[in-house]
Amino acid sequence: MLEGIRDALQTVFRMLPWPTDPGVRAIGTPDVWSPVLVTGNYDLTVRRVVRALEGVDAWLVVAPSSGINVWCAASGGHLGTAQVVTALKTSGVAERVRHRRAILPQLAATGVRAGDVHARCGWRVRFGPVYAEDIPDYLARETKKTDAMRHVHFGARERLEMALAWGGPAGLLVAGIAACFASTYVLPLVALCLSTALVVYTVYDRLPEPRRAILGAFTLATALAATWLAGGGGAALATAGAASALFVGVLTFDYAGTTPIEGGSHFQERAWHVELDPERCKGVYTCWEVCPEACFEKPPEDAADRRVLLAHDDRCVRCGACIVQCPMDALAFEDDTGRRIEPDAIRRFKLNLLGSRSVPSGDASDRAT
Ligand code: SF4
Ligand code: SF4
Repeated sequence: MLEGIRDALQTVFRMLPWPTDPGVRAIGTPDVWSPVLVTGNYDLTVRRVVRALEGVDAWLVVAPSSGINVWCAASGGHLGTAQVVTALKTSGVAERVRHRRAILPQLAATGVRAGDVHARCGWRVRFGPVYAEDIPDYLARETKKTDAMRHVHFGARERLEMALAWGGPAGLLVAGIAACFASTYVLPLVALCLSTALVVYTVYDRLPEPRRAILGAFTLATALAATWLAGGGGAALATAGAASALFVGVLTFDYAGTTPIEGGSHFQERAWHVELDPERCKGVYTCWEVCPEACFEKPPEDAADRRVLLAHDDRCVRCGACIVQCPMDALAFEDDTGRRIEPDAIRRFKLNLLGSRSVPSGDASDRAT
């Protein structure tokens, strides 16, 4: 029961940090050869990983990620090489096992550079599946990922969770304000927030362009109808109209880091895209391994040219994982005028330099470890 309440609270208020204690946890009855899994210290993630590992014997290392989920923390500089190295060095896991192989969630690849972890503490990092529920199958396959394990799928559960995460707090805020001035409108406004969030996360990315206008029209119509049904006059209708416009603006501003349905407006405005330098590519395929949108393709087995193909860059959400991990620095962000953001800059500043994040660079803490 308590677990259920924690799950619900942390799902609705997932924009807030929910830290749990870093350190090492024994899952089942692990021994010195059991796998070592690493995740961030976002309480909901840790509990989901523990639940997913039922029946598995493993060590779970919880690295400090400021109580933020793995993808957001890794992209925003909270879960980087420094945090993972610190966790592997100080959690005591090294004394409990006789190997030095750590499995990280794939979505940590935007922040944690596998090669740097090995250079700093001798642990070899592999990026496991995107979703915790795939870990037992991944371990059973001797750490081989299927295509499905590598891809982010924004399914019904994820969409509903995101709708609750946006619509729930927004509804509470609006309800609180409305309760102070006109309690009649509390329920209609909460319904407006929840229904708009639901539409955004269930059908928004499937709407034709101009989808922001279509969503705006839907929200405006819902707001006006709800206000009218609640007996509101001209001023209330005008307020509801303005509130709906504001809400749509907030919900559709910039999805980068919150959901894979949009690539992030700052990237689109500046036309940054991933550029592959075929001369540097040596066919290591780390990019293929960590890309959550399956943008890369390996050449056919019998092809003499083993270089990777950036075959589906239209799917790219500009997460930067491929750039961070490529050992040959064959990938970079480039804009239409040929301006480049080199891999080192992405590694040092994460995505902050692109204007969307307010989190300080992880670079200073990287040096401190
Ligand atoms: S781009 Fe980099 S990571 Fe991808 S296959 Fe080429 S060398 Fe490997
Ligand atoms: S190609 Fe795009 S989506 Fe794929 S890893 Fe690179 S930046 Fe991320």
